[in-house]
Amino acid sequence: MALLFHSMIKRDDWWRTQLNKHVPDLEIRFWPEIGNPDEIEFAMCFNMPHGELAKLKNLKAVFSLGAGVDHLFADPDFPRHIPFARVVDDELTSRMTEYVVQHVLNHHRYQHQYDAQQREKIWQENHAPAARERKVGILGLGTLGQGAATTLKYLGFDVAGWSRSPKDIDGVTNFHGGDQLDAFLARTEILICLLPLTAETRDIMNAELFSKLPEGAAIINPGRGPHLVEEDLITALDSGHLSAATLDVFRTEPMPQDNPLWSHPKVRITPHVASIANPDRVAALIAKNIIRARKGEPLVNQVDTTKGY
Ligand code: NAP
Repeated sequence: MALLFHSMIKRDDWWRTQLNKHVPDLEIRFWPEIGNPDEIEFAMCFNMPHGELAKLKNLKAVFSLGAGVDHLFADPDFPRHIPFARVVDDELTSRMTEYVVQHVLNHHRYQHQYDAQQREKIWQENHAPAARERKVGILGLGTLGQGAATTLKYLGFDVAGWSRSPKDIDGVTNFHGGDQLDAFLARTEILICLLPLTAETRDIMNAELFSKLPEGAAIINPGRGPHLVEEDLITALDSGHLSAATLDVFRTEPMPQDNPLWSHPKVRITPHVASIANPDRVAALIAKNIIRARKGEPLVNQVDTTKGY
């Protein structure tokens, strides 16, 4: 029996070596060279072309190569009855925390204004309040949101988060559910999106949401591109209601050359690099799960299909 691997990153021999180190008898096949589909027991993938997983009649488990599983739910033929797992890893969390802290500090200390001033050779102080007076809000208080929240709290920021279910995180104000979203937004000066992409969260950062943030708020999106309505962001930045945005993910990736976000003076762009899973750790995590699946044990970090993330 075999595992089918699909990723945009081509390092076939490396993955074979890593997986076989942990599971020596596992045959690894690389999409599109599937061979006999009935021999495939496991799939390990990110953005597999739709319909491909449904062809594998003897699949026992599917492993996402990242923390998000929206790429699996986006496939209308994805076999949802098969257990599937995502990546949850301390290093992935701390890398995301680094990204969030880096950009919260940039917005908090008005770095985008200093960058603009430098281009014009303007010497002008912009006074930032103390961190305890800066209200930071995180959409999504899951693995990554909690990691960022606790570190921002440690740095002294006034941190709140919004989730589906209530949370009790020391020093972090929790809002939850649709009814509490407006109150969360009304107090948020720097908004970070760490939600999964689902039917409920698609397009969540739109004109209406921006209008509920205080004047001058900034946003950071390392979640997923379709969380953000890009045209609405540009309108809110141009009107001055929002002061700046840092974006890591986009509706189309790589971002097309003609996307106006590239050259917007209030937008800072990174190319979907906020937190990239370390392949060594992912290979070890997935190998451990393969061994569990073969013994008929439940997967670690198995996704709850009823929640959709
Ligand atoms: P997670 O542990 O599943 O946490 C998701 C959080 O979002 C949970 O707090 C959840 O609430 C909340 N949530 C989900 N749907 C909601 C809704 N409709 N209303 C309110 N809250 C909702 O996910 P994670 O591991 O933190 O990852 C989050 C996302 O980050 C991933 O899905 C992926 O899209 C993105 N990501 C990006 C990068 C990058 O490099 N840019 C890297 C890794 C991940 P509950 O706690 O109540 O369930």
